[in-house]
Amino acid sequence: VSTMSELVPITVARGDGIGPEIMDATLRVLQAAGARIAPEFIEIGEQQYLAGHSSGIAPQAWDSLRRTRVFLKGPITTPQGGGYKSLNVTIRKTLGLYANVRPCVSYAPFVRTLHPKMNLVIVRENEEDLYAGIEHRQTDEVFQCLKLITRPGCEKIVRYAFEYARRHGRRKVTCMTKDNIMKMTDGLFHRVFDEIASDYPEIETEHLIIDIGAARLATRPERFDVIVTPNLYGDILSDIAAELTGSVGLAPSANIGDHVAMFEAIHGSAPDIAGKGIANPSGLLLAAVLMLVHIGQPAVAETIHNAWLRTIEDGVHTAELHGTLSIGRPFGSMDFADAVIERLGQRP
Ligand code: ATP
Ligand code: MG
Repeated sequence: VSTMSELVPITVARGDGIGPEIMDATLRVLQAAGARIAPEFIEIGEQQYLAGHSSGIAPQAWDSLRRTRVFLKGPITTPQGGGYKSLNVTIRKTLGLYANVRPCVSYAPFVRTLHPKMNLVIVRENEEDLYAGIEHRQTDEVFQCLKLITRPGCEKIVRYAFEYARRHGRRKVTCMTKDNIMKMTDGLFHRVFDEIASDYPEIETEHLIIDIGAARLATRPERFDVIVTPNLYGDILSDIAAELTGSVGLAPSANIGDHVAMFEAIHGSAPDIAGKGIANPSGLLLAAVLMLVHIGQPAVAETIHNAWLRTIEDGVHTAELHGTLSIGRPFGSMDFADAVIERLGQRP
């Protein structure tokens, strides 16, 4: 057996804005750590829109995704106006990525946060709800958007959340909906939650109305463990939760389907800091760690995760976390990657 045959093919898109910078930093760490991967690069995002692919992705790029079934994705920019559809939504729906898993962990005292004990995972439904993209104009002044919630969709995501909790030794699953107002759609989600919860007697469960749930998340995030919620609420909650840990630049996400899985940072393409080499690559790097576990390389994943923790603990921080080198400039994306590489083999 040649070593080549042991390499796992993965599809990689560097993306827009800060995407190329953080992807290069991430891949450099993966390579130095000995991850057994064979990246296939595809082009998605702004350039593809401009090249006339209105979905933001060239048709042949799908072939790579269907073949490798593993996608490490940089952030992309959807051009404003012009009727462009969000490629993020297209990818999730086309590949059936029904679960968006977003761990949000505090790294106090190494990263400043008001909530040092926070360690939660948001499991966001990823295909349905108001993201179905079904909008209509009723009259020139009245528009509507269809909120789609299905029983199979609810069952899949709720089951996933409980299985995730069991697999990761987490003790509580909180469901958040607005079923006091949307009795049919959110009501179904809540009902399915109660049904499936009974299969997991060892796991504590609760339901909170999303508004008070979000308020509690903002003031006492340490009381949460796993949160399962429909698409739009999950989008908002996970930005809040990531920001509470200190920076949106820190949080990874895994988008899981039955056939394909996609790993990315939760933040966007950050055009305001693109091209400066100062973006924090941590969200994407931690997403790559989740990817390595997914493709059966947990030892390399752990090595990188430990080195990353050690880097953070040693006070190596990118600009948005107020980091400076001894010579007085903030750590750039690549400086940060090199600092992680130096610490491979060390433990936090
Ligand atoms: P999207 O609509 O694609 O989610 P967004 O409007 O939420 O994008 P982001 O691109 O996530 O916006 O950026 C939000 C803010 O966070 C910006 O000020 C950006 O500079 C900052 N930011 C995002 N990612 C990083 C990162 N990796 N490192 C440092 N700062 C970041
Ligand atoms: Mg955003």
